[in-house]
Amino acid sequence: MFSNLYVEEKMDDKYALKFKVNKVLFSGKSLFQTVDVVETELLGKMLLNDGLIMVSERDEFVYHDMITHVPMFTHPNPKKVLVIGGGDGGTAREVLRHQSVERCVMVEIDEMVVNACKEHIPQTSSALSDPRLELIIGDGIKFVKETSEKFDVILVDSTDPIGPAEPLFNVSFYRDIEKCLSDDGIVISQGESPFYLKEMQQKLLGIKKEVFPITSIYNFSNLTYPGGLWSFTVGSKKYHPVRDFNPERVEKSDLNFEYYNKDIHTGAFAIPNFMRQNLGDFIQG
Ligand code: SAM
Repeated sequence: MFSNLYVEEKMDDKYALKFKVNKVLFSGKSLFQTVDVVETELLGKMLLNDGLIMVSERDEFVYHDMITHVPMFTHPNPKKVLVIGGGDGGTAREVLRHQSVERCVMVEIDEMVVNACKEHIPQTSSALSDPRLELIIGDGIKFVKETSEKFDVILVDSTDPIGPAEPLFNVSFYRDIEKCLSDDGIVISQGESPFYLKEMQQKLLGIKKEVFPITSIYNFSNLTYPGGLWSFTVGSKKYHPVRDFNPERVEKSDLNFEYYNKDIHTGAFAIPNFMRQNLGDFIQG
């Protein structure tokens, strides 16, 4: 019945990633976006928001390891963590593997994403029942504006800057983030494609430079994001993600990762020349 069904993620109508679908598990339309969960032939279950691939079972470990463990092993003792977005639960799952974490707040705007993943993608959503996690269904922008709580690490695990995620790419959001970070806090944000979205990378790094004394960008590659190479940006009040990184902590943690390790941590900050040219001054500091 689904012999000719594919998901196709297009980049500017010039290039597309296409995956064969065996079964549609969920399709819905929330107030914010369309939400689909499909079973693909190659990559297992896949979540799509507005037709864009968010996670696949086969490669989600790369993104979730890299958004989470780089800041969690840069900060020497992260106890309180805030995740903005991240409705599939993969980022919260990785945060909660750290024994230092006493509390993780996750603010996701779209309950439909959370419910669809709870029902169909337990691989990412399983940790959402952890007693240290508080799940708030609401707008992350409003949350950081209004909360008086302070966090050691904030992870902005958002969709691209369209729809409800658009203001997550503005300086006022990062000024509010700065207010709810502890004095030595670190924020990481989904940092877009070095190949296709260099202007967005320049904008994000420019905003972070305005707000934080330490900024940086690091790369990872996966199967499902257009262009293969993708990045995260860093804003930090005190700790530099490479100079202040202590690799011994990774070894002593007794945690096993599918992607992250102490060499990947520093290696990910080695920036290819074309990105250096594109980002120029934005990557110093
Ligand atoms: N790994 C993913 C990617 O970059 O493709 C991101 C995954 S996660 C599913 C992104 C989530 O951010 C979505 O579920 C979306 O609903 C949520 N989101 C978008 N704007 C938001 C906002 N203003 N506040 C909280 N969550 C938001």
